[in-house]
Amino acid sequence: MSEVNVLQMARDQLAVAAKYLDLDDGLHQVLSQPKRQVVVNFPVVMDNGQVRCFQGYRVQHNSSRGPTKGGLRYHPEVDLDESTALAMWMTWKCAVVDIPYGGAKGGVQVNTKELSKRELEKLTRRFISELNIVVGERSDIPAPDIGTNPQVMAWIMDTLSMQAGYTVPGVVTGKPIELGGSEGRVEATGRGVVVTAMEACKVLNLDFTKCEVVVQGFGNVGSVAAELAVENGAKVIAVSDATGAIYNQNGLPIKELYQRYSGIEGGIRNYKDCDQISNKELLELKCDILMPSAIQAQITKENAGDIKAKVIVEGANGPTTPEADQILSDKGVLIVPDILANAGGVVTSYFEWVQDLQNFFWEEEQVNERLSRIMRNSFAAVHATQQKHKTDMRTAAMIIAVGRVAHATTVRGIFP
Ligand code: NAD
Repeated sequence: MSEVNVLQMARDQLAVAAKYLDLDDGLHQVLSQPKRQVVVNFPVVMDNGQVRCFQGYRVQHNSSRGPTKGGLRYHPEVDLDESTALAMWMTWKCAVVDIPYGGAKGGVQVNTKELSKRELEKLTRRFISELNIVVGERSDIPAPDIGTNPQVMAWIMDTLSMQAGYTVPGVVTGKPIELGGSEGRVEATGRGVVVTAMEACKVLNLDFTKCEVVVQGFGNVGSVAAELAVENGAKVIAVSDATGAIYNQNGLPIKELYQRYSGIEGGIRNYKDCDQISNKELLELKCDILMPSAIQAQITKENAGDIKAKVIVEGANGPTTPEADQILSDKGVLIVPDILANAGGVVTSYFEWVQDLQNFFWEEEQVNERLSRIMRNSFAAVHATQQKHKTDMRTAAMIIAVGRVAHATTVRGIFP
């Protein structure tokens, strides 16, 4: 999405919802701007003894419905505009599934592949120390995103706890289970993708157990989504990672692929009983459900016309460009938008935070059951709004989300 102006894209989406909601101009202005943007420049002593300076960001978009929540991304292309757009999308994502958070996002401009583990730890501890004036278990709760993982979250929790003088597990989510992480968090986003895919099938009168599914991306989201799709009776005929795709019309043994290759770049291509195809060919395969679960801007105006899936469930953030959206809508493809389809991760992060605040932990079954219920109810609400306004699911999700945030902002009133 680096060539697309993501912030403009986020603001355009807001403008569409604002029109449907007949939103007051002043309120529209408030929602199109972040509440707070923090830019930090900080030094790290590298393993060779030299000091290197890094730039990091934390953007809080809106806190009308509760503390702000969103990931920390470590990537060379992270910048203030990207963090702002992603923070805005987090606000809508939390609102569409009705959890009591606003949106935030942040990160550091860095290529983690160039860092040793020790350097990564020092960078994380210094970065979060610079942010400690704005993050906190009641104010802004970070989580993992691209380039960060449970270990990074553990260092964040430890650093902020050291500064507080006592352990504060609720200050960050996506932690390892033994440090106050939640059962079911790792699988949560993929689980939400499959729950919403099954709901979409009901709407279209498709039998999920007879569906052929194609999954782009075999990372955290894609591999879990593929495995749960099979567990629920569907046939997954193709999966891919950044190095290419594998395809077998009779179905792939996802459990075996998951156990052997999830998290290993290029690993799936060692599997023999299949055809090797490209990611482009994978997206254009004849199938019932396509789950783009890799990176942004994969379905564009160039390939949208060739996509044959009846349903697209967006596991990734922003996999479909606005032009492609229009082409697919015109073709009658049902798209379950990212802010709904991949919200399972933040819902279970919310569960993790609630468990941390109460020091009372749930069993995995409870987590999964509550997650599925929220995803089903949210899908139903978005679908009903889509029918009411005779629009697409993305616009419907935005109408609900922006409506909820606007209402909370209005009822709270403008301080002072
Ligand atoms: P990940 O790093 O675990 O996996 C990404 C996968 O995509 C890998 O298999 C990688 O090889 C593949 N990939 C990368 N570039 C590709 C390309 N050009 N073509 C095909 N495949 C490619 O990441 P993840 O956590 O699974 O996240 C995937 C997407 O889901 C991202 O857009 C992320 O923002 C979004 N998301 C993740 C979560 C979560 O809880 N992990 C929650 C919400 C949204």
